[in-house]
Order: sequence, then structure tokens, then C-alpha cells
Amino acid sequence: MADTSLKTYGEDVFSEKEIKRLLPKTVAAKLIATMRDSKPLDPSIADQIAEGMKTWALERGATHFTHWFQPLTGGTAEKHDAFLEPSGVAQAVQKFSGKNLVGGETDASSFPSGGLRSTFEARGYTAWDPTSPAFIKRHENGATLCIPTAFCSYTGAALDMKTPLLRSIQAVSRATERLMKKFGKPKAHVSVTLGAEQEYFLIDREFYLKRPDLLQTGRTVFGAAPAKHQQLDDHYFGSIRPRILKFMHEVELNLWRLGIPAKTRHNEVAPAQFELAPMFEDLNLAVDHNMMIMEVLRQTAEANGLVCLLHEKPFQGVNGSGKHCNWSIAYGGKNLLSPGDNPRDNAIFLTFLSAIIRAVDLHADMLRMTTATAANDHRLGANEAPPAIISIFLGDELSAVMKEIETGKAGKKTGRTALRIGVDAMPPLPKDTTDRNRTSPFAFTGNKFEFRAPGSSQNCAASQMVLNTIVAESIDAVCDKLEAIGGDFNTELQKLLQRFIKKHGRVLFSGDGYGEEWPKEAAKRGLPNFRTTPEAIAPLKDPANRALFTKYGVLSETEMESRYEIAAEDYSSRVLIEGKVALEIARSMIRPVVADEFSRLASAIGQAVKDGLKMGVTGLKALSMKLGAGLDDLHYKCEKIEKAIDRNDSAAIIAAMADLRKTVDRLEGLVDDAKWPLPKYREMLFIY
Ligand code: ADP
Ligand code: MG
Repeated sequence: MADTSLKTYGEDVFSEKEIKRLLPKTVAAKLIATMRDSKPLDPSIADQIAEGMKTWALERGATHFTHWFQPLTGGTAEKHDAFLEPSGVAQAVQKFSGKNLVGGETDASSFPSGGLRSTFEARGYTAWDPTSPAFIKRHENGATLCIPTAFCSYTGAALDMKTPLLRSIQAVSRATERLMKKFGKPKAHVSVTLGAEQEYFLIDREFYLKRPDLLQTGRTVFGAAPAKHQQLDDHYFGSIRPRILKFMHEVELNLWRLGIPAKTRHNEVAPAQFELAPMFEDLNLAVDHNMMIMEVLRQTAEANGLVCLLHEKPFQGVNGSGKHCNWSIAYGGKNLLSPGDNPRDNAIFLTFLSAIIRAVDLHADMLRMTTATAANDHRLGANEAPPAIISIFLGDELSAVMKEIETGKAGKKTGRTALRIGVDAMPPLPKDTTDRNRTSPFAFTGNKFEFRAPGSSQNCAASQMVLNTIVAESIDAVCDKLEAIGGDFNTELQKLLQRFIKKHGRVLFSGDGYGEEWPKEAAKRGLPNFRTTPEAIAPLKDPANRALFTKYGVLSETEMESRYEIAAEDYSSRVLIEGKVALEIARSMIRPVVADEFSRLASAIGQAVKDGLKMGVTGLKALSMKLGAGLDDLHYKCEKIEKAIDRNDSAAIIAAMADLRKTVDRLEGLVDDAKWPLPKYREMLFIY
């Protein structure tokens, strides 16, 4: 990452241009067709592709190749092999075959499998995903050819994030084609699109290294709120400091070289918080690119003496970081969530919209499930956006249209008869989105939906995979119903959408998602509100959910079971680690400092009394009482955490940590600033 020169956008991607330059014409055409339209690839041309890819990679300075995949750890994985193969004594050739390209074998035993991998079969298999182009990753003195791959077990069960994502894209594509046929549209390519906005914090590396909690858990388990943090709203969209701008630009150069369309950069709400938003792309590619973005952010920060924190809630009391996933579907290149300007296009738009509303209402539990992690629990379900209740925001104009369809009556302001689907044109929706409701987890933003619940460190694939599947099911439900009832298409469609909205309109909500009233109102409407991970992952065990994901071939029963196991294990391991880190810091860093201060005070008081000093003793005594009480508290609360840790009781650990934190944060304000062992919030958040 040290080299930040950029000659051409996408120069480190095995792009269509390079494919055409290096592969025989017919081979290039076949590969490009696969990349563009996900057409199955003819396996007989793998050797020729590999040869061209090797030539390109060597030209770009690569010495190794790797299958690059996304195991269920949430990160990415790679195992490098040199191109080099000995061909005699002190002789070697550079080799890379079709076999090397198409498939690989790895030891899967150290990746989470949630019981999918039986003990006797430790092998895992990687399989080339030709729809995401190969690329080159650079380091100080070399480069590696990376081949995006899926990762599965011996029996073919998915051990990664990509496999079910690809299956779900297929499912929603098929359903979309089916519905578009009903609208009389000729067959066209369906593309699901994603634009993932990445939020992150940057802090100076010096501070980071002095915080065992950041080092080990990615978040601060202690730290008093500084007097000033985000109250003045002076960071959001503020002018960017030169050191940060230098960092951001280096990130962008690295991303542009990889053909990742980094577009927008700005300061976020919390101090030391920022955002990077790329232009949207085909979903599968956008997911791979987001994984690369996170890696480039981390590495570039390090090269700049900074640390990039991708944790959902690194600092208590200021905003956490999310990853807003902007999602849509295009048919033959036309965005289906764009209302269009004639009744026919409006009808298609309203049908998709209603299908999505139905899907989110019926399967809010599965959507919520995809965002459940120990870290994200500090955002969702806490006093911060978005809430754990999954609801949809449509905006005033669209809500009015939906109301008209639901009631069959014209809205008050429109001064015309109620909208007839396929006959009347919809009123134009404002393109300006300034009035958007930022408290909604699932918001319509003009021509796409923005799912705001996913956490900043999460792989987008999980939420997108569920969204695709539940929308596929809903679109199929529309098609089934339309097939079952004869009669005039538009009239039947109108009746159907009316029924959908009547039944599923409860998921629509335009009010304040952070307000105290909303959880009560949501409960009345029967909307689920899973505040913690253990509750939120339970839907993976629900037989109806299992049947749905099996039916669409996205996740099998055993794959869902394994994902449940992995999520549950990940949650309890992380909570346990946090508890242990908190205990260690409290006992071995905080307590000695407080004890020292206390005993210094005690002897000072003794001396002052002995010397018959009149002034100061009261102040010293008051402080020593506070410190003494703090020391006792610290003792009891540490014991409590220790017991919870021994029982591995996640809920008890979390509660005990919150309690201990109160004591430690109070002590932070009492102890000599120069002696406090941890960098403080006011330093980390403002000196970067
Ligand atoms: P905001 O922060 O105001 O929500 P941004 O400009 O930061 O908006 O991000 C919006 C994201 O939505 C961008 O990544 C953009 O490319 C993406 N986007 C726009 N149109 C679509 C679409 N049709 N499908 C998916 N994503 C889209
Ligand atoms: Mg944004």
C-alpha cells in the first residue's frame, strides 16, 4: 500500500480491456459475457484464461496468486502460492494453470463452520467467481494476484458469505424476470445494485497502542465523556483537516487503482468520525469492493500513523458507525425503483414497491438477524439509530400514493380521483431528499432503499442476501396471485396491491424512530423488536424461515443451523473477551493508580493533622473519601465481573461491565490527569 501512484483508473484489475488484449478473441468474448450477464462459463477455456491472467499479473509485478474469499469470520481470507515452480537444478518457470484458477483446496479446519465441517473432512474448497474480476494487491516490495472465490465444504455446503449471496441474486433475478414478463416486457438482464456507505473513526496510533481495550476488542470499555463532543454539530460536513485529507486521498488512489469507484468523502457526526461512499455497482462486485475498502482504510491509516476503527461503537456517548446499504434492482439497465414518468412504468414501480413492503413486513426478523452482532447491539436497540425495530419510511408523497391505493380514495390535496394503477400517472416524487427521515432503518430515498441497520464492520453480503430472497418470495407471490385471478390486468393488480398495503402497511412508519413512543406503537402493531443478538439470531431457527431460504436455494437447513451456531458463538466469545479485558484494565491499570493516589492522600492527611494545619484537611479528606469509595466499588464490581466470566453468562458480563464502567469513569475525573493510565476521550477524539 505504500505506493500511491496512479496511472489509470482500474490499472490493478484484470479488466475487459486487459482481457481483450491478452486472451484469444473468442475466449475473451466468452469471459466478458460471463462477467456482464453472469452467463455460465465454458470450463474448457480455463487454461487459456489462466495463461492471459498470469501474463498480466507478471507484467504488474505479481509473484504470487491467491484465491481470495470471505469466510464466516466476517473478514476476508487468502493463502498465497508462488507462480514459481522448479524446472531443474537452479531453474524455475512461472506456472499458473486453469486448474489453479478455477478451484483450490484449503485447510478449512480453522475457519468457523458451525458444525458443517465434520472432523474427518477438514478440507475446504474455493471456487472461482468469474463475475468479479481478478485484481492485484500490492505491498512494499511486491504484489499478489487475487482471484475472488466462493468457499465451501467437501459436501458443497457454503462456508462463506459469497455463495448464498450469489444464490440470492439468482433467486431475485428469476422472480423479477417472471414479473416483468407479466408486464409484457421482453427478457432482459436483471442486476441488483448496491452502494455501501462506509463510516469509520480515525485516531492517532499513539493513543491506540496505549489502550488494551481498543487493541483487543476494537472499542473503549472505559472512558468518561468529554465536556464537548458532538453537541455543537460542528464536525458533520465540516472542513477536513489536512492530515485526514492526505489520508483520504491516499485511500482513494489505492481504491481507484483497484477500480473501486470511491466518490464521496466527508466528516461524520461524531468527532474523529468520517465516511466514504462509492458509486453503486452490481451487488456481488460492490460487496467485494466494500471488503477491499475496509482493508485499504485500515492499511492506509497505519501508513499515516493513524488507526482506522471500524467497530460499530468504539466510543460510548457519541454516534456509532453504520454501513448504509443502498439497494435497488435494474431491468435491462433501467432502475425498477425509479417511478418513471408514465402510468405503465409507475405500475411496475408500485408493484415492486408493494412487494418490498410485504417482504419487509413478513420477514423483518430475518433482516434484523443479519445485523445482529455484539458490537452492533450498542447501536441498534440502544438509544441510537436506527432502532432494532425494522420499519419502512417512504416520504410524504409516496406515503400519500400508497394511502390512495389502500383506501381507494383520493388524497385531500390532490383534487382528483384516486390513482388507478396502470392508468393514471403518479404525481412526481421530489428528487430533493433533504427531508429524509434519518431515524428509519429502511428508507426509500428517491430511487432505492437504504438499509441503515448494518454495522460498519459487517460484510454487506448477509443483509443483501436476505433482502434479495425475501423480495424474490414477494415478487413470486404477486405473480402467483395474478396468475390465479383472471380478468383485467390493471384492475386485478390494483386490487392485489390494495390488499398488500392493507395487510402489510403496519411496517410503514414516518415518525421519529428514536422516540420513546415508537417501541410502544410498534408493539401494538405487532412488529418485532429484538434488542440483543441472542434474540435477534433466533429467527435462523424458525422452521418457516428455514423453509423459505431452502425453497429459494439460498441457504439449506444445515447452513442456517451453522450460521446460527457461528453467530451465537461469536457473540458469547466477544462478550467474554470484553469482560476479561475490562477486568484486567480495572485491576492492573486503574486500581494501582487509584490506590497510590489514595495512600498518598492518606499520608498527607496524617501529616497535615500532625502538623496542626487548619486548612486543606477538609478538602483532602473529601477527596480521599471519594477515592476510597471508588476503590471499594472497584473491588466489588471486579468480583462481580469475575463471577459472570466464570459462568460465561453474557448478559451478566454486559451488565457488570456497564456497572464497573460507571465507577472507573467517575474515578477518571478524580485522579491526577498526568497519572491516568489510559488516553482519554478528549485526547483520542480531538487529537488526530
Ligand atoms: P446519503 O449519505 O445522503 O444517503 P450518499 O451519496 O452518501 O447519500 O450515498 C448514496 C449511495 O447510494 C451511493 O453509494 C450511491 O451510489 C448509491 N445509489 C444511488 N443509486 C443507487 C441505486 N440505483 N442502487 C443502489 N445504490 C444506489
Ligand atoms: Mg452518505
